[in-house]
Amino acid sequence: MNSETNFQKFTDLERRALTLLSEDSRISVSELASGLGVSKATASRLVKSLRAKGVRFTVEVPEGYPIAFVITRRPHQGECHRLVDGRFMVVVKARDFNELVEAISGIRDREAVYITLGPGYSNKLVIPRLICDYCGGPINGQPIIYRRGKRIYYLCCRTCLRELKKRIKQLKTTKDGDEAHKAG
Ligand SMILES: [Zn+2]
Repeated sequence: MNSETNFQKFTDLERRALTLLSEDSRISVSELASGLGVSKATASRLVKSLRAKGVRFTVEVPEGYPIAFVITRRPHQGECHRLVDGRFMVVVKARDFNELVEAISGIRDREAVYITLGPGYSNKLVIPRLICDYCGGPINGQPIIYRRGKRIYYLCCRTCLRELKKRIKQLKTTKDGDEAHKAG
């Protein structure tokens, strides 16, 4: 099994959220909320449920970040500054957020923690690779979005779109045939 995303398992609101996110993968939670016409709380809940369904969001952190400034009672190894109030400020650098949190939790006498993800950072969401609803292959770049009734299909290329339309037409013909048969 791979960790790719299958759009079938999402609710309509989640699909709309993913559509917005795939059009602009770097919108903030408040931009997502206004784009969907929902509250910020609903948008955050949406992001959580998308995570739970396997969508991965990552923050883009510039080179040399994230950094935490940890205020402590005692001096620590590494980069550590004595503050004018007699306490200390330990500078913790890590390659990613998880590593940073782990390093911070190792500093037992911490009194305050300030984290920076770098200059100009805002809550950015980066959408992962999507998969095509027709061929199951990865969608690189912008997906082709095809709406039919309530369903939204995400496709990797024009060929898949054409084939999907053909398949839907076939299914519809079969269904109509059945109905005609029942009626007659
Ligand atoms: Zn495809």
